[in-house]
Amino acid sequence: MVEVHKVSGSPFDGNVYLILDEVPVLIDAGMDPEPTLRKIKKYIDPTKIEMIILTHSHHDHSGGVVRLKEATGAKVMIHEEEAGFLGDDMATVAYLFGRPAPEIEADGLLNEGDKIDLGEWRLEVMHTPGHSPGGICLYEPRAKVLFSGDTVFPQGNIGRTDLYAGCDADLISSIERLTKLDVEVLYPGHMEIVSGDVGRQIQASLRFARSVL
Ligand SMILES: [Zn+2]
Ligand SMILES: [Zn+2]
Repeated sequence: MVEVHKVSGSPFDGNVYLILDEVPVLIDAGMDPEPTLRKIKKYIDPTKIEMIILTHSHHDHSGGVVRLKEATGAKVMIHEEEAGFLGDDMATVAYLFGRPAPEIEADGLLNEGDKIDLGEWRLEVMHTPGHSPGGICLYEPRAKVLFSGDTVFPQGNIGRTDLYAGCDADLISSIERLTKLDVEVLYPGHMEIVSGDVGRQIQASLRFARSVL
């Protein structure tokens, strides 16, 4: 039985998720790694974590990645269009948080359609640009679980498109793709985890995106 735990540290962090499957992984790194590590240790020895999959490069999702990689030995994975942003204060919007972007290189690149086999779960990589050019969502079709990064949030909310290289039209088409999925649990990059009428919430995100962008 796969378990997912939200292990993010500070309230300003993007959500960090620990997936406990045969291959334990983290989705995103947040920017405050010490409290995150303490939470991880409640569930697992951090050195057992094999991958840190970044939904995108923004600082609130990647700022803690150097420390988490050092503590876990995990491989850092990110979409190929986003990998070059790591370490860039503007592209990662680290400047908004008044911190420098940490210098790190990805260990592996992800692309649309890639499948990440965790044992029981197999995460499908969906390239969902708009909030950021190489943003991804991760979908598990059997468990009907979606990790949506900053593309959609609960209750019809959407990622902003006014940050570095954001794109309104891309965000709308990315959300259109998400409405076609069968989702029972949404693990967003911010806000709370939701289950149940997730499809309706993603439809609401699409209506909102079409009306404001
Ligand atoms: Zn974010
Ligand atoms: Zn973001």
